[in-house]
Parts: sequence; C-alpha cells; structure tokens
Amino acid sequence: MAEHALVLFSGGQDSTTCLAWALDRFDHVETIGFDYGQRHRIELDVRAPVLDALRLRFSVWGAKLGQDHMIDLAVLGQVSDTALTRDVDMAMQTNGLPNTFVPGRNLMFLTFAAAVAYRRGAKHLVTGVCETDYSGYPDCRDDTMKAMQLALNLGMESRFVVHTPLMWIDKAATWAMARDLGGEPLVDLVRTESHTCYAGNRTHWHDWGFGCGHCPACDLRAKGWNKFRIEAV
Ligand code: ZN
Repeated sequence: MAEHALVLFSGGQDSTTCLAWALDRFDHVETIGFDYGQRHRIELDVRAPVLDALRLRFSVWGAKLGQDHMIDLAVLGQVSDTALTRDVDMAMQTNGLPNTFVPGRNLMFLTFAAAVAYRRGAKHLVTGVCETDYSGYPDCRDDTMKAMQLALNLGMESRFVVHTPLMWIDKAATWAMARDLGGEPLVDLVRTESHTCYAGNRTHWHDWGFGCGHCPACDLRAKGWNKFRIEAV
C-alpha cells in the first residue's frame, strides 16, 4: 500500500531537511505550514521557492511532492505574548524559557496537521523538532511528541505515526543528513533557499545562508554549518 506523509514545513533548515527525508521514504508527500502572526514572516515567503526548487532540481522527489496546505492560526498570535509574535526584545524568562517560546504552538501544529492528514489519508506526520540543539522548548521534546501521537490516535481513532528524524542529532548532523539524502545539490538548496533567522534578514549572505548573523537562530545555524564543514573535510 502506498505510504502517504504530511510534513510540517516552515521553510527553515530543519523542516526542509525533514521534507527531503520524507520524500526519500514515502510514496506521496504533502506539506503543511502555519501562519500564526509570527514576526519572522519571511520564513513563510521562502516556503514556495523551496518547494519549487525541490521539484525542479530533484525530479524523482518532485513527482512525489503533492499539495501544500497553508493554515491560518492567527488565533495563536492573539492569545500569546511572546518575542515571536510581539514587537519585544528576546530575553530569558523567570521560568528558564526564552520569551521566544510560544506556549502550545507545536501542540496546535500537530493537532491541525493530524486533522489535515486524516482528511488526506496520510498516516505519517513528520516534524523537525529536536531535543539536541534547541532552546529548551518543552513542546519539542521526545516525550511531548510521543504523548501527542497517543492523544491524536486516541482522539481521532487513527494510527498516525509521528516521525521526528532530527530529535537526537545536532545541527551539524542535520547538514550531514541533507548531504546523505541529496548530495551537495540538496545542501546548496537548504543553504540558499531555506530561512532560519529570527530577525527575518535575507540580505546578509554567509556561507551558511542568509541571516542577520547575530540572533540565536543564526548563531545555531552558523555553528552547525562550521562543524559540519570541518567534519566533512
Ligand atoms: Zn538572525
């Protein structure tokens, strides 16, 4: 039986790599993205060019790549007060979490993804969450994902499988995964087309892609790239 997957695709490095991972494994792959009033909306703008580039440069994958679903979750921005959804500086909070944490975000994303997957007949949900090089977001943890899989399957009487290919690897290994899946052409695609910077900067070019070069997301992406390049020599 053909295996269908739905990838939570934001246009960033992680979800672009996860999309390639899914295209390598499953027969038909669709994508889903969420607009929740995030400040770095540029991530949403790069989604279509990344999908186009994948179709154009990887014809086998292009044939498997199906519909893209864009979901309006403006309500999430309305109920949360965070540095990703409001014009405030990024800072640590007293609970030890950065104020870039949007409470409930990944829980809602997975719930809506499962609702779309239910309708589209996709068994596999793929998300780029990671416990290794992360900001401590509790909704990125393995336990949370396993609990969500259980809740979704109970609540929708389904057998979804939530895949987290990046859960236990760092950013350098994420670049290596892209290379293993699609060689240098995929590494180049992720580098030039995907977007990670919190500040939404797409004018400053670095070896590892566009970004401000200062925010935590750029810092992580740059460090991962440098480590990957050293290990690849
Ligand atoms: Zn940045």
